[in-house]
Amino acid sequence: MKNAKPAANAAHSAIPAKADRAAASVDAHAHAHAHAPGHAHGESPEAALALAEEYCRERGEKLTPIRRKVLELLLNSGRATKAYSLLDEMRQIHPGSAPPTVYRALDFLLSAGLVHRIESINAFTVCHDLTQCQHGILVVCQQCGNVTELHQPKLRQALIAQIEDAGYRVASDEIELKGLCSACQAAEAVPVAAKAGATAPVAAK
Ligand SMILES: [Zn+2]
Ligand SMILES: [Zn+2]
Repeated sequence: MKNAKPAANAAHSAIPAKADRAAASVDAHAHAHAHAPGHAHGESPEAALALAEEYCRERGEKLTPIRRKVLELLLNSGRATKAYSLLDEMRQIHPGSAPPTVYRALDFLLSAGLVHRIESINAFTVCHDLTQCQHGILVVCQQCGNVTELHQPKLRQALIAQIEDAGYRVASDEIELKGLCSACQAAEAVPVAAKAGATAPVAAK
């Protein structure tokens, strides 16, 4: 797909668009994905890290310890996380961590298609299945940063076709919709709980 080249995103431009290789592998991975909301995918963080490591090796790149750590933090978070939160967590492990270290690691993970930048809340999240598929459509809770990636290739392609029919080129791999997750909707209904749970991943049931 030549149209998948994101013009406004330097982090992606040096690397072939994910859609190119996804187009080749989409049939092989057309099975149904079962991923719970709040989790990037169904596997354990360890399995996901091993998968990402292998994927980078196949591309002739290296998942260095810092890149791996940032990816691990995002996997453990299970939701969109701001760069400065990642930096804070990094500093708890490596007190000398400087902002550029984290930003460079994020740039690498973005360009490899392993994570998404969520522009509406200026945060980052792990791609729903890391290395396997074309990106889906991201639904982002504007309250807590919960992200669900809808794996709907036909819907995504139809949307992109409509955008191009209108004379536009999509400027980023990410297609995101703003939402309010069920937990935050429930918290909104109970004002006290909303305050207590605004940043905690509490499942209100
Ligand atoms: Zn994705
Ligand atoms: Zn939420």
